[in-house]
Amino acid sequence: MIVMKFGGSSVEDATAISRLVSVVRTQLDRHPVVVVSAMGKTTNALLECARLAATGELGAAYYKLETISAHHFNTASQLTLPDEIGSLRKALNKRFDDICSVLVEIDKAGQLTPRSSDAISSNGELLSSLIVAAAMRAEGIDGVWVDVRPAMQTNDDFTRAVVRFDTANPELKSLFTRALSEGGVPVTQGFIGSTAGVVTTTIGRGGSDYSASIIGAALDAEEIQIWTDVDGIMTTDPRIVPETVKVKVISFAEAAELAYFGAKVLHPSTLLPAMVKDIPVRVCNSRRPETAGTAIVRHSPPSNALLKAIAFKRGISIINVASDRMLMAHGFLARLFEVFNKHETSVDMVATSEVSVSMTLDDTRRLDQIIADLQEFGDVVVERDQALICLVGENLKFTPGIAARIFSSIKQINVSMISHGASAINVSFIVNGTDVEQAVKGLHQEFFSEFDAETFDAPSVRQAGAPG
Ligand code: ADP
Ligand code: ASP
Ligand code: MG
Repeated sequence: MIVMKFGGSSVEDATAISRLVSVVRTQLDRHPVVVVSAMGKTTNALLECARLAATGELGAAYYKLETISAHHFNTASQLTLPDEIGSLRKALNKRFDDICSVLVEIDKAGQLTPRSSDAISSNGELLSSLIVAAAMRAEGIDGVWVDVRPAMQTNDDFTRAVVRFDTANPELKSLFTRALSEGGVPVTQGFIGSTAGVVTTTIGRGGSDYSASIIGAALDAEEIQIWTDVDGIMTTDPRIVPETVKVKVISFAEAAELAYFGAKVLHPSTLLPAMVKDIPVRVCNSRRPETAGTAIVRHSPPSNALLKAIAFKRGISIINVASDRMLMAHGFLARLFEVFNKHETSVDMVATSEVSVSMTLDDTRRLDQIIADLQEFGDVVVERDQALICLVGENLKFTPGIAARIFSSIKQINVSMISHGASAINVSFIVNGTDVEQAVKGLHQEFFSEFDAETFDAPSVRQAGAPG
């Protein structure tokens, strides 16, 4: 079997869903499980409704919800057979009624808890999957709606729940094996799960890619396909550099670095489950299904390209801790990092000298408490609004003089905290947030204005993700 995951833009309206159905049809013989995101920007819109309700603007929340519901009903009526539209409308209505009740609760409470945020945002995927399954049936494919929540078991860290693989894996396997054995095409939700089948959770924004990979690994899929709005993994985000080219094949390690360091095309955790089971992942364009996409495999073939791609992450904070007590003191760093452990916040990059430590964070939710605790160690200075740039490629391991080439191509930009990680397949550094676009453009020009045709494909038609 294979997993086919379709992102928000690949299910955004009736045209996109019809395209999805055609793509699934071409691979029916591979026994697909279809995982979908919410339609278009529905998750953001639902969360906005929740925020309005929390600030006492229930009327405005209902008004916004009306627009969401009109789009879903309108799409459903364009795609569904007349004898099914009644039952589909009923199922969609049930979801909108649930959303309304939670909005009323949020309004009464006067605040938005992570739990009620999940109760609202999880509906995007529940709604889209109902419509996609019905659209398949209207086209003669036996789409079977499957609620993933009882099987995708997580802890109760709402809005970023952690999957409990020990229970989730066997549950997912039995849920989808049963659905597949009946010969239909299961259509299920990315992004959502539940605390042991009881309370609905979500696993973090953009998490549908991760859901697809978890399901693929639990079922020992042949392949996990991520269908999105670009041709594959590009040399950088085409929204910043329209001249990007597509990487044909990339290793798990390279793609994982890119995803972790900000390439939005894959959720940062997507590759972990696939890597463990050695399942190839393919990133494809749902608007141009005839193109091959990017294959992500254990070992990428030998390549002459120095770099595969450039990722970047905005909204980074640097924390500098300076202390004389570090001098010759063992155990200092262990105690310092214990602060991050206590606040469940991960550090991306670290640089140390004899008297200071600099660390970068992109999760700044607990920054104030972290700073307060770190002040016991020395003087703490925080620089906000920084950006991390990460250049990835397995040949970085073998290329002397690469640092000189990287930094001379952006010499007008101030760079800090350079790191050439232990894996040696990435070079990362920090720039001021306002410089990130210029830096990425300069680096792309330096490394990809001429590209190796064995490693990359120039798209014949410009990407949907590109500006314009
Ligand atoms: P989906 O809704 O299908 O999950 P996303 O918007 O989450 O899609 O991810 C696709 C987007 O990722 C692209 O439109 C593109 O702007 C962005 N992106 C960032 N870096 C890259 C990259 N290196 N290659 C391809 N796309 C990238
Ligand atoms: N719909 C969710 C989000 O917008 C999950 C996803 O699209 O991957 O974050
Ligand atoms: Mg995504």
